[in-house]
Amino acid sequence: MKTIGLIGGMSWESTAVYYRRINESVRALRGGLHSAEIALRSLDFNRVVELQKAGRWEDAGTLLGEAGAGLARGGAACVLICTNTMHLVSEPVARLSGVPLIDIIDETAAALKADGRRNPLLLATRYTMEHGFYAERMARHGISVTVPECDARGIVHDIIFDELCQGLVEDGSRRRYLDIIEQSRARGVDSVILGCTEISLLVDPNSLPLPGYDSTAIHADAAVRFALAEELERAA
Ligand code: GLU
Repeated sequence: MKTIGLIGGMSWESTAVYYRRINESVRALRGGLHSAEIALRSLDFNRVVELQKAGRWEDAGTLLGEAGAGLARGGAACVLICTNTMHLVSEPVARLSGVPLIDIIDETAAALKADGRRNPLLLATRYTMEHGFYAERMARHGISVTVPECDARGIVHDIIFDELCQGLVEDGSRRRYLDIIEQSRARGVDSVILGCTEISLLVDPNSLPLPGYDSTAIHADAAVRFALAEELERAA
């Protein structure tokens, strides 16, 4: 089993979900007392948010890339950036880490394509919905992402930072997300990407008005496939 490197803390509320899901998957696949080999670097999220707000993406790339390099030195065979937003700097992070980076956008695209989805609604932070990096990378996979209208984007973003990243899960916010998904149906979308790693804390991807794709679960599962590739091949 290879060691999975997690660059986490963005926020730790979702890193905890990664940690649990990866370990549960390894236990399900290998049984008994097996658990995952994980190296975790959990950053102070406030520091990252300050860089986001200031648009200091280069500094953010260096911060996360150095974290990835530390994980690689500690034995990680791959790294995951445990947030969609910070994939904005996935290139420098991959370069500085020096081990394969399992990309959340590529993995989410693969999951959509496997089910024949081509026009998902993207729910995410404003950075992810508006900066372009996410839609561009999805387009490379032949997937055309739709984002909510401007006001709705603000609602989605604020609930992520003001509530979910602070451990608050509110029924009213769940209703607002569901309303936004419902409204988007008229725009011809065929699915919904929970494109922020905290959103599945608020809404169940399997109980949405459209088929849901939870980036956290998809990303964590990709890490397990990487870590157990040899074992799974031997067992096949
Ligand atoms: N975890 C979130 C995401 O997947 C938002 C936190 C961040 O800005 O990194 O985008």
